[in-house]
Amino acid sequence: MEDTIAAISTPIGEGGIAIIRISGPRALEIADAIFVSPRGKPSQFQTHTIHFGAIGNNGHLLDKVMLAVMRAPRTYTAEDVVEINCHGGLLNSRNILSCCLKHGARLAEPGEFTKRAFLNGRIDLTQAEAVMDLIAAKTDRARAVAVHALEGHLSRRIEAVRERLMTVLARIEAHIDFPDEDVATDTQDQWLNSTLEILNTLQHLSATAGEGNILRNGISLAIVGRPNAGKSSLMNALLGQDRSIVTPVPGTTRDAIEETANIRGIPVRVTDTAGIRKPRGAVEKIGVTRSCNILATSALVLHVLDVSRMFSHDDRELAALCGSKPVIHVHNKIDRQHKLKLPANFPQRQTVEVSAIRGDGLEELKDTIEQIALSCQVGFEEHEVAINERHADAIRRAIDVLASASRELRAYSAPEIVSQQLRIGLDAIGEIVGKTTTEDLLTKIFSTFCIGK
Ligand code: GDP
Repeated sequence: MEDTIAAISTPIGEGGIAIIRISGPRALEIADAIFVSPRGKPSQFQTHTIHFGAIGNNGHLLDKVMLAVMRAPRTYTAEDVVEINCHGGLLNSRNILSCCLKHGARLAEPGEFTKRAFLNGRIDLTQAEAVMDLIAAKTDRARAVAVHALEGHLSRRIEAVRERLMTVLARIEAHIDFPDEDVATDTQDQWLNSTLEILNTLQHLSATAGEGNILRNGISLAIVGRPNAGKSSLMNALLGQDRSIVTPVPGTTRDAIEETANIRGIPVRVTDTAGIRKPRGAVEKIGVTRSCNILATSALVLHVLDVSRMFSHDDRELAALCGSKPVIHVHNKIDRQHKLKLPANFPQRQTVEVSAIRGDGLEELKDTIEQIALSCQVGFEEHEVAINERHADAIRRAIDVLASASRELRAYSAPEIVSQQLRIGLDAIGEIVGKTTTEDLLTKIFSTFCIGK
């Protein structure tokens, strides 16, 4: 890695401090050129120490800073790294970054620090991705999965599968080297058993993809119901904070409001829709159309019914609009006199009784949301890893080819055919940790990172 890169690693905007990170063989030389301190030059400082001083540009003081020196290889990138903690503020941090660039650093590309950590062998691809997952985690559950991956739990599982596959492959290939010798059927059976065991492990891993997707991206939940049913109140109760406007005048939530709620560790993007009814006025019309769109695109729907009012035709229409989507009927305002009588032909759906105002039934509602969100998923407690879409794709390919290899083994086919298939499987699994990668794949992964990471 010949060039030295620099970037602002803290978010853009005003803050107490901002951090400019420099990594590469010239990091210390650049720091020497811009940092002034009576205690000496950064290149003379011991590794993993931090020092107070000033950043100067042609004799002009830019800022008073703390400068950290971390020498290779025990650093984030495994290269020499210098981090400048300056005062926050876009202009100030940009000026210091410019100063680094003027003295020979190149502006880092998105994710380039992490990419270097990968290319220098300090972390593998699943760990690099875990860095992003950790930064983006919206709930503690998502964060915990990211930390596990960062610690290498997923890598170790993948490596274990790779090793088992390599062992089978080595045995098969040893036989290919002696084509005149017939392979005993029980040897073939052993190969088959090993392949099936590997397949089983891969299938288990594959089953964590759904949960991984939910933890990373969350699920979308639309709250629908007649005006004044208590949608806004319910949304606030789920969020645990006042977010959308609650008023006793029907039809006030004209625009849809989206917020992420943390429900049992799952990021749930809750949208409070405008009351769906025959719109009165142009603004309400737009709101109602938008609500119908939100309803159509959300994964889960909470249909709020006001138990203190009579059943209305609107509720039947709403139920019809939900179609076959997962719906929870939330019977709200149970603290008031019960007047709602559902007609016999009203769709039977999961029902939870709540009082959004008093908080009754909210825990049960959260449990139900969690159950539906994770239905068909494996239990989180048993699985500390949750793979992402890229891993799932590689595992799917490996499963396909290994399944085909086991069919060949069952048919006692030529070892050459089997070994070829196992090799393809090995490559697919290797992609997950980055043992077999192309430049394109790396670019694709790291370009989704932020600059400075
Ligand atoms: P939206 O139009 O469906 O969003 O309904 P709001 O959340 O704005 O609530 C309409 C009215 O019903 C407000 O006056 C709320 O205070 C009241 N409300 C909401 N939930 C409850 C509840 O559980 N019990 C009672 N008694 N009133 C509620």
